[in-house]
Parts: sequence; C-alpha cells; structure tokens
Amino acid sequence: MDTTADTPSDVSRHTPITRRLVAALGVLFVLGVLVAVAALFNIAQKLDAQDVDETRFYIQRALDNRITATKNYITSYAYWTTAYEHLSGEVDVQWAYADQNMGKTLFTNDELEGVFVIDRERTKYAVVRGQQVQADAAAFMNMPLKDLVDELQAQPDLTRPTIRYTLFEGWPAVVTASVIVPNDERPQVNARETSILLFVDQLTPVKLRKVGMGYGLTDLNLVKDTTLEPGQPAVPLDSTGYSLISQLQRPGQHLLWSLAPPLGGALLILALLTAYFFRYAMRTARQVDASYDSLEKSKQALEASEERFRAVAEAASDWIWEIDSQQRITYLSARFNAVTGFSDQQWLGQEIEQLLFCDTLPIASWLGNLVEEQNASNLRCSYRDHSGQLRFCRVSARPIQDKATVTGYRGTASDITDEVAAHAQVQHLSLHDALTGLPNRNKLARHLDDALIAKEHSAPLALLMVDLDNFKPINDSLGHAAGDAVLLEVAQRLRDSTREQDLVARLGGDEFVIVLSGVEHSAEIDRFCTRLIDSLQQPIHYESHSLHIGASIGVAVSRRQGYVPGELIRCADIALYQAKSEGKKTWCYFASHMNDQIQHRRQLENDLRQAVKNNEFILHFQPRYTVDGQEIVAVESLVRWQHPTQGLLSPDAFIPLAEQTDLIVPLSRWVLREACETALTWPGSLMVSVNLSPAQFERSDVVEDVRQVLIETHFPASRLELEITENVMLNDVDGALQVMNALKELGVRLNMDDFGTGYSSLGYLRTYPFDGIKIDKRFIASMSNSSNDRAVVQAIINLGKAMGLTVTAEGVETLAQLGSLGTDECHEVQGYFLSRPIDKQAFAALLESSQSMSRTGS
Ligand code: C2E
Ligand code: MG
Ligand code: MG
Repeated sequence: MDTTADTPSDVSRHTPITRRLVAALGVLFVLGVLVAVAALFNIAQKLDAQDVDETRFYIQRALDNRITATKNYITSYAYWTTAYEHLSGEVDVQWAYADQNMGKTLFTNDELEGVFVIDRERTKYAVVRGQQVQADAAAFMNMPLKDLVDELQAQPDLTRPTIRYTLFEGWPAVVTASVIVPNDERPQVNARETSILLFVDQLTPVKLRKVGMGYGLTDLNLVKDTTLEPGQPAVPLDSTGYSLISQLQRPGQHLLWSLAPPLGGALLILALLTAYFFRYAMRTARQVDASYDSLEKSKQALEASEERFRAVAEAASDWIWEIDSQQRITYLSARFNAVTGFSDQQWLGQEIEQLLFCDTLPIASWLGNLVEEQNASNLRCSYRDHSGQLRFCRVSARPIQDKATVTGYRGTASDITDEVAAHAQVQHLSLHDALTGLPNRNKLARHLDDALIAKEHSAPLALLMVDLDNFKPINDSLGHAAGDAVLLEVAQRLRDSTREQDLVARLGGDEFVIVLSGVEHSAEIDRFCTRLIDSLQQPIHYESHSLHIGASIGVAVSRRQGYVPGELIRCADIALYQAKSEGKKTWCYFASHMNDQIQHRRQLENDLRQAVKNNEFILHFQPRYTVDGQEIVAVESLVRWQHPTQGLLSPDAFIPLAEQTDLIVPLSRWVLREACETALTWPGSLMVSVNLSPAQFERSDVVEDVRQVLIETHFPASRLELEITENVMLNDVDGALQVMNALKELGVRLNMDDFGTGYSSLGYLRTYPFDGIKIDKRFIASMSNSSNDRAVVQAIINLGKAMGLTVTAEGVETLAQLGSLGTDECHEVQGYFLSRPIDKQAFAALLESSQSMSRTGS
C-alpha cells in the first residue's frame, strides 16, 4: 500500500503558510488601525475629561474669587470705625441709607441684592435691591441667622468674614457676613454686643455669565442638583439644592468631530487599499501557497514515487541499472545481488559490456541508437553469474538526458534464463525425438534442405533408411519399456557408427534415417552398412533378456537420385522395402526398377480393393488326415484370388497387402462365411479350419464377426476351427488372450498355426486356450535331414500331447515323413503327399470318395 499518497488532511496540514502570513498581516493592520482609532478616542476622552476637570476648577475658581472679592469688600465696610459707630446699637439710617454710605449704590454699583445689619435678636437695617425695607432678613433667606451671628461673634478674629450659600428670594445667593468692628485703637469691643453686616450677592444669570467670561467659562449658570447630568462638572452650593455649572468645551469631541470626516475618508481609502492589498496579497499568497502546495505535493509525490520505485525495484524480479556517459555502471538495485549473486560493489565503476554480452549487437552501439521518446527497446544479453553459470536477461534501456545532452542510460534487466531454456526446450522438442533425443523428421527435412540447397554444387550425401527387424515382437511381448530400451540402445549405436557431420534421425517407430555427408561411392557405403548391421545385430541386454534384432537398410545417393529431399527419402524407402523383401539384415541401393515394383504394389492394392467389391475370391480346401493317412478329419480353407489379368493368385501375393490395408477385414469375413456355407453342403460333420490374420485382431471385432457368421449360416460352432499364428499373441498379449477366450466361449476350436516359427511358443501354449497345434512345415521338411531335427519334431509332438493338444504336422510331402510322424504318434497330418489344396467341387468329390473308401474299408 502506498501510505505516502496525498490526502486532503496532509495538504491542509502543510499548506497555506503564506496565506496565513498575509491574513495575519491583514489582521495586524486592522488591529493597528483599531488601536489608532482607540487611541484617538482615548485622547478625545482624556481631553474631554480634562475639560471637565478644568471647567469644574474654573467654576470653583470663579466662585471663590467672587467670594474673596465680596469678603474683601464687606471687610472694608464692617472693619470700619465709622460704620461701627453708626450701625452698632441703633442703626443710623440717615448715615447708612440717606447718605448712601450703605444704601442704594451697593445694589446699583456693586450688584448686592441685599444689605442687612443684624444682631442676635433682630434685623436692624435692611436694603433689598437698593430699597430700604422694614423687614426681617430671615424672611428673605432660608438660613438660621442666629447661628451665623453666634459663629461670627465667637471668632477670635472678629474681622474675618464668613460666607453662606442660601436661597435669596428663592434664588441662590452668596451671603457674606462680617462682624462690624471699629478699625481704630479703642478698647476691646464686646463681641456679644456687636452687629453683623450681611451682603447678599444673588447669583443671577447675568452676573454669572459675566463672572464666567472672566475665566473663559461659557455660559456659567445655575442648575438644580436634581437635573444635573452625570459627569457634568458642577460646584454645589451647599444646601441650596443648586450647583454652578458651565457649558463644556468638549475638545475631545471637537477633535473627533473635526477629525472624523478626514479620518473616515482616510480610513475608507485605507480600507479600500487594504482590501486591494489584501486581495492581491491573498492571491499572491494563494499562488505562493499553491506553488508551495505543489512543491509539497511534488515532494510527497517524489517521496512516494521514490518509495514506490524502491518497492518495485526490490519486489520486481528485474534488477535496475544505471550507467554514465562512459557506460560505466553507476547504480545497481538490490535485486542485482539476488539474481546474479554478485555484490553491486564488485561491478560499480566497470563498463556494462564487461558484465553483459549480446551476440548479435554490441551493447554500446545499441545504446547509442536509443532515442529519448522512443519506447524502451529490449536487447537479449547473456552473462555468467556468480557461480559461473550462463544466464540470459532481457535488457531495456533509456537515455538519461540533461537538456540536450545524454548523460547516461538507465534500464532494467529481466532474467529470462528459464524462458530461454524453455524456448530451447520447445525448439529442441520440435526438432527432436522425445525418446531418443535424435533429430526428428522436421530436423531431417531442414538438414537436407540446407545440405542440398546448392543442388549439384552441394557436397554429395547418402541417405540411409534403416528399419529394425523383429522390433515389433519385442515391443509387444516385453512391453513398451523394453521397446524403449531397445530404441535407445539402437539410437546410441547409430550415433556411435556415424561421424560428427552426419545426421541420425528417428522418423518414428523403428524407422531411422542416416545422412552421410560427403559420401557417394558404393564401396564406402557398403563398408558403413556392413558395420552398421553388424553393430545392430549384437544382442541388446534388457533386464534378464538378451534381445536380438537386426536391421534392413535402403540407400539413396544424392548424386544419383537427385537433390530433392522428399524424393531422396522416397527412394531410400523403396530400397528399404526391397531389402526387407530380400531377406532382411541387408541393404539395397535404390534402383529405378524398384519404382516399377512400387508401382506394381500400388496397382495391386487398387485391384484388391476392386476384388473385394467384385467378389473375385474363391476358396480351396486342403484336407487333414489321421496320421495313418486313412481318414479326413478336417479341412483347411485357403483363399485364392482370381485376378482378372494375372490369373489365380496365392494368399502370399495378396494377404500381406490386405493386412497392411483395411481390406483384410471384409476379405476375412467373406472367407469365414464362404467356408461355413460350403461346409454345410457336405455330408457328415467334418471340421472346417479357417485361418485368422493377426491384422483382423487389431482392426475388427473378430469374436463378433465369427458369431454373426455362425448365427447367419447356422453352421455349428463345434465344427469350426480357427487357425491363429503366434504373431497374434506377439502383437497384444493380453488382448489376444481375451479375444481367444471369447472365441472359445462361442464353442469353436482353436489351433495354433505354424508352431515353432515364433518366440516362446511353449509359454503361449500354457497361457492360451488352444485345442491343437500345427507343426510348421519347415520342421517336417527338415525331419529327414538330421536326427536332431527329427528329435525336435518328436519333442514338439510329445509336448503337445502332454498338454492335451491335438498335434497336426503340416507340409507332409513324402511317405517317409508320414511314416516318421506315424512312428512318433503325431495325431494328424496335412500335406501335398496326401492332398493339395483343391476347389470345393474337387474337395466334395474327394470327400465322397474318401468316405466311400472308408465305408468300403470298414
Ligand atoms: P497355412 O495356414 O500354414 O497354410 C498351409 C500352406 O501350406 C498353404 O499355402 C498350403 O498350400 C501349403 N501346403 C500344404 N501342404 C504343403 C506341402 O506339403 N508342401 C508345401 N510346400 N506347402 C504345403 P497357401 O494356400 O499358399 O497359404 C499360405 C498361407 O496363407 C497359409 O498358411 C495361411 O497362413 C495363409 N492363408 C491362406 N488362406 C487364408 C485365409 O483365408 N485367410 C488368412 N488370413 N490367411 C490365409
Ligand atoms: Mg493354416
Ligand atoms: Mg501353417
């Protein structure tokens, strides 16, 4: 699994650093602006707070100064001997009011709304708004005057005035009070007896505005405490319920208001600029981030790719290589070690051609022809691995380019040793025989094509077709393992007999071909064939057996039979056929007349086919007698062919041909039926013998054929005797046994024909359900030659009898033979001496005369 692949979380984890930076800058900028604005507000607020403090300070200052001035002013009246004299005790109104020492002008000039002279008990003098009135001062003011008098008179310094805030006629006013004392050097006055002078300075709006202006206060005014706004600077006038206020300058607010439009505009512009900058910065940041992202992704992809490369490089069966421009190896993947057994250190720095070898193209020139865009091309190379073993690899390569310059190459090397071996194996199998390893028909054809390509200019060659004699019986009787062992041994002997430049091929079965190069003279070929036949005649040992085979050879020579491979093989084949027919273990050169024989054989085959169709066969019958030659006990049916042009042909002329084709099957059926039907026409219950061909066993269901004929002809099975040669057993030991048992179950008799010509006849006799044996005519013919031959026949007769078999002697041609067989107590005899095979009419006549003879005899 690729764990390094990009995931969204990875991307978000790594990326928008630049964007964050820009965002942070943006936030900082906004914060800065906010801080600046806040600072501005703070300043404005401070200015306003300062304004409040200052306003309060100046109101207080203005009030204090007015009070101080009034205090000074009242002192100038109260601390005055004249006033003391006119106002202590009874008030001198004349002096005070009429003379205007303390009358109207105090109101009109000094803006004092009330002027009073009081003592503890009463108001002695009152001027309100410039008019003298007879009234109590307390009626104008809401303050306890008695306390004020007591306080003033109790002062150690009687000249010190004091003030009170009060409502005068309902309006706030400052009452300044001072004890009226003389300012001359007179004895101490009694404070308790003094009068008090009161100046009432009503704080009217006009006066306050005037006072305020002196202190830069706008609209100094009075307001009820209950209507005071919070934070408004005010100076309370004690219990009057009023406070002095003044309109605030609010410089902070003014500052803000004055700065607001340009500041707003500037901020707007700044905001726009910021937004623009921010967008631009964000875009740039995004690009930077994107490039960072892509860089990061590329990095991740690169890491993943490297990871994958490593995984692939290690997991693949291929190894990866790199070389520089000098073709020196600069890199080898770890697989190199696993595949070749070398360590990469052994090869790094060496030229690649030291390691790999290509037999068709030098690697250097192959690399030189590679083009970048081109798909990786392959080159098959070989090398010796660590243990010196030859290995093959398929090398692919691509140039490494730095701009336009090729700085080296890299590629892979896939091990194809097994593939090459398998390919070679397939090639070998297609051209060689699997069993012997010899070249097969294909390879022979190629070899001949190459050898004969130059026609008459090519070197002469002799083609020998070799066929083993007696191979098939060995294969069939001892099994395929034995057959294989024989073929292997034969192959080895053929190889041993030939030279390097010659070719030995197996065409199949027991057929071999030898091509001798540079050979054309018969003497040379004869020598070779003699040697070869001699070699193949040597017994072959297989397990406990000593097997004897031989060989027949047909020879064709290129200088004579031409340069066409197929024709040469055909000629050698014809010559072989000739050699076999000449008695085996020999060789024959092809001669043109053999062509005629082949032609004849072909013609015969055609004729035979026609004959089967046209029913051109007849049966001859040869009787079998009791050994005294007196009585016919059975009759053998022997087929003849009434050839339209060649006359009556004996079975040897056509049975082998029929056996080689399928014609043996219909022919045999005809014989069987004809024999049964004919025998039915004869009187008595004579046994009828019919010969079976081994080929029938292979190509048809013999049991079924016999059964059918018996059923259809109503011929009693007990009268039918089938003659089977040993070859039947040789071909298929088990199969033959089964068939023979089945035949026996039909109720027929079985006779072994030509006994003594085959292999282990005695063994067969024990195994197979034979009723009798027919000793081959060669034994009978040789009986008179030597006592030894006679003894052989005697032994066979005794053996047969010992096994409970009916023993028949074939080919009895002489009276002597008949006599000997009689002496040896052979059961039955057959031969020219007694009767030749004759046609059915003749046989019927013979039978008639024989039966009448026996009747006569009896
Ligand atoms: P075979 O079954 O052993 O038949 C005996 C052969 O010996 C016959 O030859 C017969 O004419 C010949 N013969 C008999 N007595 C003498 C004698 O005293 N001296 C000599 N030299 N020969 C004698 P024929 O008829 O030419 O048959 C040859 C072989 O052809 C037979 O040998 C048998 O194997 C085969 N054959 C004949 N008819 C048939 C047939 O209908 N079917 C099959 N499958 N084979 C047949
Ligand atoms: Mg026979
Ligand atoms: Mg025979």
